[in-house]
Amino acid sequence: MQNSLSKILFSLKTKILSPKLEDLHQNTVDNLHVENIATLNFEKRQKLFQHAIKHSNFYRSKYKHLKAFSTGINSHEDFLRLPPMTREELRLNFDEIKANNVKSRACKKVSTSGSTGPSVSVLHDKRHPETPIRWRILKWWGVEPWENQAFIYRFKKPLLERIVNTLMWWPTKRVFLAAANPTEQQLSKFVRDFNNIKPSLLQGYVDVVFEFALYLLDNNIDIHPPKMVWVTSAPLFEEQRELMQKAFKAPVCDQYGNTEIMLIAAECPEQNGLHIMEDTVHIEFVDENNQPVPPNTSGKVLLTDLTNYAFPIIRYEIGDEGKFKDHSCQCGCPLPLMDNIRGRQSKHIATPSGLQIKGEHIMAMFDGHMKFFKEIQLRQSPDYTVCIYYVPREVEKGKQEIKVMAQMLKQRTRVEITITHEEVKQVKRVGKKSPIIISELQKI
Ligand SMILES: [Zn+2]
Repeated sequence: MQNSLSKILFSLKTKILSPKLEDLHQNTVDNLHVENIATLNFEKRQKLFQHAIKHSNFYRSKYKHLKAFSTGINSHEDFLRLPPMTREELRLNFDEIKANNVKSRACKKVSTSGSTGPSVSVLHDKRHPETPIRWRILKWWGVEPWENQAFIYRFKKPLLERIVNTLMWWPTKRVFLAAANPTEQQLSKFVRDFNNIKPSLLQGYVDVVFEFALYLLDNNIDIHPPKMVWVTSAPLFEEQRELMQKAFKAPVCDQYGNTEIMLIAAECPEQNGLHIMEDTVHIEFVDENNQPVPPNTSGKVLLTDLTNYAFPIIRYEIGDEGKFKDHSCQCGCPLPLMDNIRGRQSKHIATPSGLQIKGEHIMAMFDGHMKFFKEIQLRQSPDYTVCIYYVPREVEKGKQEIKVMAQMLKQRTRVEITITHEEVKQVKRVGKKSPIIISELQKI
């Protein structure tokens, strides 16, 4: 009863206050029924290209020597000839990339946290909010937009934003836990609020949601199981997922997105890869010549945002690696699948002889050991020494386990570098994130 009332009020309010959102939502639903999403995706790229060469100085000069500059994009080959935009180009050309026909109220400037190299800024196009795609993902998991939701973040949003948010989502009830190091009091209050509103969704940054899961497990606290747990902002250890699923008695959905393009791909309940939002994003996995690699083969990620007309992002080389899956999903959704992105932004540990151990491989190696820790972080100094900083769950077990992990890493780096470890209260934050690897090597 409560739920259907919320539905009526929420739908009515959305229709009146945000009729455009309602239309966009309908588009998102319709897109999955078009005969060929790949064709829709291609047509959107053609249109975006025309827009970019007309309204963005950066792309006009970047593409002016190409045949497509006069003929347009007529084939997949034409598109593959477009030189990618590097992170460095994006960082240095903000004003040039920005479209010259966009009003400032139609866009919002956002910047990356700087956890993965120098911070970059982009504009989000407010005419195409990510909300409809968010609703699509929630729908897969049986969560409706008007159902109650709980969020865990490291920082509180500004008061005004919180008030707008509350009004925007009324009558949906939402509870927040926003604290860098939540106290026992804050945690138990959150549990009470949580059980009070019985949210269908729990969403937050991987590391803080994980910390909350450990708090519940360590103290044998039961909470009302949500329909899904949605984690963002960092790669997910398989072991972290298992512990979270145990603590929340709910499935944990992995997703791929970043500051530049927020929702790129997400898991459906089959959890057999991430469905790519092909109607709003074009993702490529390419070799060093920027040509496509076959499915199940790792390649550099290139991203094209099909809906951002304020700040065109075309074949953007973000620095991640990933791969397509070559099977379609049992769930019947026509959106193609990609593998979960493990190490982000190609962070790695390096040795003097040139050996590189990728972040994703370190994560795989440490999987099975993570249950003894709240957080770990590897920091490599300019002299190649690596220190593993860790926040233990249980001091003694953490101490034993970290020695094993340091030994594994030592062998993996062929005993070329010194590995140390140190217990800390908190690992280093870069912006709002706590990266698994911080390398100071590039600076020398
Ligand atoms: Zn699926």
